[in-house]
Amino acid sequence: MTASIDHTHASDLQSWVESANLPGSDFPIQNLPYGVFCGAGDATARIGVAIGDHVLDLLACEAAGLLDGLAAAPACTRSVLNELMGVSAEERTALRHRIVELLAENASDDMRDQVQRALLPVADVEMLLPAEIGDYTDFYASVHHATNVGSMMRPDNPLLSNYKYVVIGYHGRASSVVVSGTPVKRPSGQRKAPDADMPEFGPSRLLDYELEVGMFVGPGNPLGEPVPMTNAEDHLFGLCLVNDWSARDVQVWEYQPLGPFLGKSFATSVSPWVVTLDALAPFRVSAFDRPDGDPQPLAHLDSTQNRSHGGIELTLEVWVQSLRMREEGIEPMRLSRGNFSDLYWTAAQMIAHHTSNGCNLRPGDLLASGTVSGPDKGSRGCLLELSWRGTEPIDLPTGEELKFLRDGDELIMRGFCEREGFARIGFGECRGTVLAAG
Ligand code: MN
Repeated sequence: MTASIDHTHASDLQSWVESANLPGSDFPIQNLPYGVFCGAGDATARIGVAIGDHVLDLLACEAAGLLDGLAAAPACTRSVLNELMGVSAEERTALRHRIVELLAENASDDMRDQVQRALLPVADVEMLLPAEIGDYTDFYASVHHATNVGSMMRPDNPLLSNYKYVVIGYHGRASSVVVSGTPVKRPSGQRKAPDADMPEFGPSRLLDYELEVGMFVGPGNPLGEPVPMTNAEDHLFGLCLVNDWSARDVQVWEYQPLGPFLGKSFATSVSPWVVTLDALAPFRVSAFDRPDGDPQPLAHLDSTQNRSHGGIELTLEVWVQSLRMREEGIEPMRLSRGNFSDLYWTAAQMIAHHTSNGCNLRPGDLLASGTVSGPDKGSRGCLLELSWRGTEPIDLPTGEELKFLRDGDELIMRGFCEREGFARIGFGECRGTVLAAG
């Protein structure tokens, strides 16, 4: 079942936390994403909800009795989101409804006084990884990305024949998933120039980012029990932004025959706030409209619900600020703007495919979409495509040319959902600065 639209999505709903009502705020009361934070000088990791420029501390709410009667209340007192991700969709929705009661404009003065004590300015907290990620899987769900990259690597055969049947993915590395703001050191690895006889080992020269959407698994499935398409979204908690940093020179040399490995596993950044499926309910759209001539998905990857509402209208942007731009006080420049709904495969299809062999998913597992690239050049989700493997450099306002990432470059990813008649909701940011190898 897809989460439904209810009173918590009403566009005229306002919060007594004034900053949440400002136009352009990523975190109005209709959003309420979850994250994990610790306060300045206080190392205790706690679960919080973003509201305007504040964080609502759920541990403090629970201690004050504000979550009484909710089945999800104990899970709100933990130091990671895994247990909360594992509660049923009904319990999660009940928690959302309670949080709206606490923060809505019509809350009583007494209620506001109590909730006020559990509110912290986001500027005073440090955001941590939202979950203990047991497994991380990265898909390859953009047919535009797959075709562009394929045409560089195999000009005669860009899109392999399995692509329109199999939701292509690989097992990524969970231990190197880091939260937004963590610097990323340029990796070293084996790389081999096309005309060289031998590979050499050294710092990557073709460091790239990949703009992706992360999907945190909610309730898991037992080993041996595939999740059918009709229930797939019951196993999805929410979405975040992902930067799948990629060393292209390492990747090209190592990827055959078993796929990505060290060219990817040195770091993956995630945004700290997880936007729930409930919050995304107003922004559901049909799955990718397959052009004439494309096969329809096999039955185990198809459902009428998925065809009509499997997609999510989510605008995604990438911005860059080089070291020199920072030194000269020049604001970040936008590199691309794409949309999650341009993907060939939906989140439900990723879950159904992943579990179709009986593989078990667990609460807090991270699935990433693969690079989100759209049909036009301005929507390409990585530098490999944007600079066409370095042959079409991007001009920065300083006069610098960007082909691949240089030391000191900061990458900023942003995401937001907009639809007429509903409040805009945002994902915040996923940031990372490249450090020199060493
Ligand atoms: Mn990727």
